[in-house]
Amino acid sequence: MLDSLRRIVQEVNSARDLDEALSLIVERVKSVMHADVCSVYMADYTRKEHVLMATDGLRPGAVGKVRLQLGQGLTGLVATRAEPVNVENAPTHPAFYFIPATGETPFHGYLGVPIIRRRKLLGVLVVQQRLERKFTQEEEAFLMTLAAQLAGSISQAEIRQSLDRLDRDAFTGTLFLEGVASAKGLGLGEAVVVFPVADLDSVPDKIVTDTKTEAAYFRRAVAAELREIKRLSKRMQGLLSPGDQALFDAYALLLGSDSLVNGTLSRIDEGNWAPGALRATILEYANLFEEMDDPYLQGRSADIRDLGQRLLKRLQQEQAVNRNYPDRTILMGEEINVSQFLEVPPEKLAGLVSVHGTGASHVALLARGLGIPAVFGVNDLAINRLNGREVVVDGYSARVCIQPSPDLRQEYLKLAAEEAELSRGLQELRGLPAETPDGYRIELHANSGLVADIAAARDSGAEGVGLYRSELHFFLRDHFPGEEEQTSTYIRVLRTMAPRPVVLRTLDVGGDKPLPYFPIDEQNPFLGWRGIRISLDQPDIFKTQLRAMLRAGIAYPNLSIMFPMITSVSELSEALDMLRQAHAELLEDGLPVVFPRVGIMVEVPSAVYQISTLARMVDFISVGSNDLTQYLLAVDRSNDRVAKLFDSLHPAVLRAILQIVENVHREQRPVSVCGEMAGDPAAALMLMAMGVDNLSMSLGNLLKVKWAIRTIKYSHAQELLAEVLQMDNISTIRERLNGVLEAHGLGGLVRIGK
Ligand code: PEP
Ligand code: MG
Repeated sequence: MLDSLRRIVQEVNSARDLDEALSLIVERVKSVMHADVCSVYMADYTRKEHVLMATDGLRPGAVGKVRLQLGQGLTGLVATRAEPVNVENAPTHPAFYFIPATGETPFHGYLGVPIIRRRKLLGVLVVQQRLERKFTQEEEAFLMTLAAQLAGSISQAEIRQSLDRLDRDAFTGTLFLEGVASAKGLGLGEAVVVFPVADLDSVPDKIVTDTKTEAAYFRRAVAAELREIKRLSKRMQGLLSPGDQALFDAYALLLGSDSLVNGTLSRIDEGNWAPGALRATILEYANLFEEMDDPYLQGRSADIRDLGQRLLKRLQQEQAVNRNYPDRTILMGEEINVSQFLEVPPEKLAGLVSVHGTGASHVALLARGLGIPAVFGVNDLAINRLNGREVVVDGYSARVCIQPSPDLRQEYLKLAAEEAELSRGLQELRGLPAETPDGYRIELHANSGLVADIAAARDSGAEGVGLYRSELHFFLRDHFPGEEEQTSTYIRVLRTMAPRPVVLRTLDVGGDKPLPYFPIDEQNPFLGWRGIRISLDQPDIFKTQLRAMLRAGIAYPNLSIMFPMITSVSELSEALDMLRQAHAELLEDGLPVVFPRVGIMVEVPSAVYQISTLARMVDFISVGSNDLTQYLLAVDRSNDRVAKLFDSLHPAVLRAILQIVENVHREQRPVSVCGEMAGDPAAALMLMAMGVDNLSMSLGNLLKVKWAIRTIKYSHAQELLAEVLQMDNISTIRERLNGVLEAHGLGGLVRIGK
């Protein structure tokens, strides 16, 4: 059974469109389960109906025509209950609804299972048989498992079908795709799909006109690979068994084969670029072998893929992929990493869209810093069909619109103009203090990680840098930066901002931020070796960084140092000892270093419960609400499957922060919040009302938060906080706060448009 299941899913995954996918499903399931009928009813929510979309066993003419109201008949029962319905004699069941057009009179045994994708019912998969008998438990379990696995493939196929329609006629409508998280803003532009080096599966299709050049690239890659294989084969002669040696011959044979070479060339001829044509050809042959019954031939499928991978690498080396970014680039990918992001000139980057990732992931933070709209967790993004298409990134509603119709484009352009007007209007606030109409003053600082950001932060009126993520500098290298290099980087940061305060955070890698040259392979990276844990275990790296920070502070007393991920008093003692040592050593070396202000990030529940002791040991406390939310709610901040559960307005997070603020103030230390929450205008008002001394946020949010603070009275924010603290649900809290923003004319901060 497991084998059949795997094969069906694989076949459906490579179906061209929804019709082909559904036909494959009904045919294969009917045969594997020895049923007399297999059908799929898809849910049409616009017309509130279940539509028979494919069948093997009922009258073919009924496909597309037979429609039941949502909830009607046994199929409707499966849908409303969202569970299997297994009936011995369907026509006698009270929910049975007879439709003559299907010709289902002779069938009695009925089993229907829901096809659900991310809580949404896509359709119902049904098998029927003539006999009056219940399907067995094993059969029921098989069908359920299959439906669960097929849900993703079906919704992908649906998207491919919509894209086909758009390709045939651009005016048939627009395709909307939903994400799970975002960075606010609106971006219109051209999709540029990026993919990991030599990852065959994620190579996109790309239409080219110069097919001759593409064909030449491909021919050269094949010839070079053939030469390489021959060279390797010669070198290994006598060292390998004849069986292993035969692999080289097999590769050479494949490289000369018509199917692979001509298959790819004819796809290029049809207008696809070489990597896309190669992917399609390789996958077609790999699947063909995969489906063979002979295990030896099945195994060849892996060889074909391997060869495809090697050829792709050669092609990528030869072609400078996507070097010419369009003026308004919408960067798309399965996952977008920091280097891909940084490769696009910022003035050309209009938006980001990715299949995986969340609003709390690293690239999201960078995007927010630069005010670039983004939508993450768009699971049904048919990534390899989107390159070059016009796309709208709507970071307000976490939606992506593919090829907007002319009317819709007009509408979006109008909204984008309103957004630009809003942001121009906000510029007037740059020199004004973050002070409420009733005279309460709070400091607004910027988060940064790139030296280039700092001047922008200063010019936008940030009163300091509340969080400098030092690890970003480490990401832009292929080895750990040395003491001299780090010193000059920190000097530039401190000098640009001086005399305003700058908090340099020590290295916070691990979790979702492994350094390419310091890989950490762990099952639970967020519960593993990250942040201060790494620094304490690698004193060489930690001391180098601390020395560099202290040296930078010689000429710039605006320096503060902060430790991330502190979970215990002993950890903080060790980190402080290390800092004292570095300080003493530099003094011994004759350098006039001063001991800086030191703080810790509170981002782990254990630190919340020991906050008074921890606060007494340092000069200030900064709440890392991103990690605090992650660890309090047990929601992985970079996992798009649970992104909807990640919300810093959760009552537990609010109460934890209030507890931190009260206890830290009791120790007469200041407290700031430097997670993304501080940049959310509604949340920022609540933090202000709690008494947080300063808020540090992505630069893109600074003026928005200032606008909210300058509009809403402190006394009102305090009343709201008292109200919100009585609420048990995030949605009620969010609605209440957004309602207040709207009522004060600040709706532009939470939604699109004026
Ligand atoms: C946080 O966790 O809130 C934080 C600011 O640190 P980072 O996002 O870099 O983990
Ligand atoms: Mg953190």
